[in-house]
Amino acid sequence: MSRERVLITGGAGFIGSHLAELFLDRDYDVTVMDNLLTGRLSNIEHLFGREGFTFHKQDVTNYLHIPGRLDAILHFASPASPYDYLEFPIQTLKVGSLGTHKALGLAKEKGAKFLLASTSEVYGDPLVHPQPEEYWGNVNPIGVRGVYDEAKRFAEAITMAYHRSHGLKTRIVRIFNTYGPRMRLDDGRALPNFMCQAMRGEPLTVFGDGSQTRSFCYVDDLTEGIFRLLRSDTSDPVNIGNPKEMSILDFAKTVIAATDSTSEIEFKVLPSDDPKVRQPDITRARTLLDWEPEVQLAEGLEKTVTYFREELTRHGSERAPTR
Ligand code: UDP
Repeated sequence: MSRERVLITGGAGFIGSHLAELFLDRDYDVTVMDNLLTGRLSNIEHLFGREGFTFHKQDVTNYLHIPGRLDAILHFASPASPYDYLEFPIQTLKVGSLGTHKALGLAKEKGAKFLLASTSEVYGDPLVHPQPEEYWGNVNPIGVRGVYDEAKRFAEAITMAYHRSHGLKTRIVRIFNTYGPRMRLDDGRALPNFMCQAMRGEPLTVFGDGSQTRSFCYVDDLTEGIFRLLRSDTSDPVNIGNPKEMSILDFAKTVIAATDSTSEIEFKVLPSDDPKVRQPDITRARTLLDWEPEVQLAEGLEKTVTYFREELTRHGSERAPTR
């Protein structure tokens, strides 16, 4: 039997590029589509030349055509850090809505499975803790983060509509905070900011009093969960994340320790609508996918520190700004 082929939209991004690699390693042909708005060719450069790999520079919000067989579409295209989607609010809404519609249309045309990258942001500033998939969330539609949260909520709704109306095989993964190599140094998230600041000996910018919590999952655990979800037969959303929760202040201290830094901590204004807590309930992933995270924070941070050190050396600390 010939090899299966997957299309990954947003495949030049942080998570998309790790997924592309995982599918190639598991003998799939992989086509990446990305308009490189927030993704980077350097994330997938090492994949060019591998058997079955192709790349299309294209905006997913326009008409999509891919010649030949397609067995699955993984729709990961979207600005995804708060800094990015505040800078590109309309593109974020368009890729979550129009882009998801186009990608679903292509899946229907090809008879391909469709997997949507959704997010813990659909839970907004949650009133239920930890967050199970049954929770409907607490999102401010007109707040600054609403462009991402509502785009992803719409994307989930239209994915379910294609499933119900057209019988499309669909999967929805709700991704919680993920970290690892290939995060952009300047994407504005807590981890890249803290890493760069710690490595340069600058103060770490903790927003608010740092008591808000997040739960950080190493990227290899996430991609394994997504692979299993695609091959499962559940159309219900599934949380994939690491339930180990910590305050942002503790996280900053952990990064200082992991980088052997002497940096101090500086408190800055908390951005609006910043969720106060976040922790995935992963019962469903455990039960349906037999999945749970395996990489401890210390181990994941060690690998990430190596990547950040290399990047800072390559670009020179002057030229790789944090925001
Ligand atoms: N944060 C921070 N300092 C930074 C960047 C982020 O304290 O330099 C906080 C942010 O306010 C949030 C948490 O860290 O409470 C995680 O932010 P991130 O942007 O990584 O992702 P989010 O989970 O908010 O989508």
